[in-house]
Amino acid sequence: MGELRRGGRPYDPREVIFAPTARCNLSCAHCRAYRNNANAARSAARSTARLPTSAALAFLEDCAANGIERVGFSGGEPFLEIDFLEAIIVRAVELDLMFDRLMTNGDWWGSEGELTETLGQVIDAGFDGTVGISFDDWHAQDPKRLARFTRATRELSSGSVAVEIVAVRDRAGKMPIDRISALARELGARIVSECGDLIVIRDETADRNASRGAEDGTGIDIPLLFLPYSPGPNEADAWAADRWFDDDWCEGPGHVLFVHPDGNVAVCCGFANERPELIAGNISVGIAALVERARAMPHVRACYERGLGAVRKELESRGITLPGKTADICQFCDWLCERGFLSNK
Ligand code: SF4
Ligand code: SF4
Repeated sequence: MGELRRGGRPYDPREVIFAPTARCNLSCAHCRAYRNNANAARSAARSTARLPTSAALAFLEDCAANGIERVGFSGGEPFLEIDFLEAIIVRAVELDLMFDRLMTNGDWWGSEGELTETLGQVIDAGFDGTVGISFDDWHAQDPKRLARFTRATRELSSGSVAVEIVAVRDRAGKMPIDRISALARELGARIVSECGDLIVIRDETADRNASRGAEDGTGIDIPLLFLPYSPGPNEADAWAADRWFDDDWCEGPGHVLFVHPDGNVAVCCGFANERPELIAGNISVGIAALVERARAMPHVRACYERGLGAVRKELESRGITLPGKTADICQFCDWLCERGFLSNK
């Protein structure tokens, strides 16, 4: 486990993440994308949100010329915008950029033909990063279909695309082990190691490769990262933690340009990233203006430079009563945005 930084630093993005659409084929109860994809009342608005490919390509070139090294994808479900993905991936390869995660629910496909054709488009375009699958009891995909998606990703890419799973615990903190075990069975694999919030699913081929010291990508070797459930700031159990969060100055989900489907750019992929306090502007103004603006924004400076632990102590010293404790720094950030504590400082 890496050590936490002892101090912050100004916002300094090295990665651009495109969320080409807010649409999704699933409606997970815990969804925080676009303030609750599961809410049917919002479905009309979200179904129209789509990032224009031409604007995204222009921004990608601007990013490549200004220090951005990696490209990732998020959503909504990005595979629903396959032509967008293909165009960005092709240009990113030409610009010599690296790929980070392409996040998906892995369950967007209908027929076997649609699965292999769509995955083939992404792989043939040159994607060689990691496909990150959100898979847990919240998403509740069929393990058989997830196993098929996983195998197809590995086989069609000849192992050049890694697969990892990101699973969210339930409200009580329980890992979705039954569902993960079912996926492992479908893959002819097993859980080989458990270490805190990380476990690995591995099959015999990957075992053999590892013992020969020759990882050729032919086996199933999938890390699973378990995340805590993050309640919204107004949910009943949001402030019931027995300790406060550790300051991390957003080093994990931060220092990225997260491009929403409307072209607005957030400074992180944390779950408060739709709040105006974390939006630096639109891609149309270019990366230099976005970074300059973000570095001057009070809320961004509080997150990246002062640390939200210091902000919490300052609020308490001003006599402001907090609703309880939270170990989730992004939840605290979301609450600060909602209350507007840092907007005018
Ligand atoms: S798969 Fe992701 S984007 Fe889609 S509803 Fe579930 S949490 Fe939201
Ligand atoms: S604390 Fe706020 S700015 Fe930092 S990663 Fe979380 S949501 Fe983003």
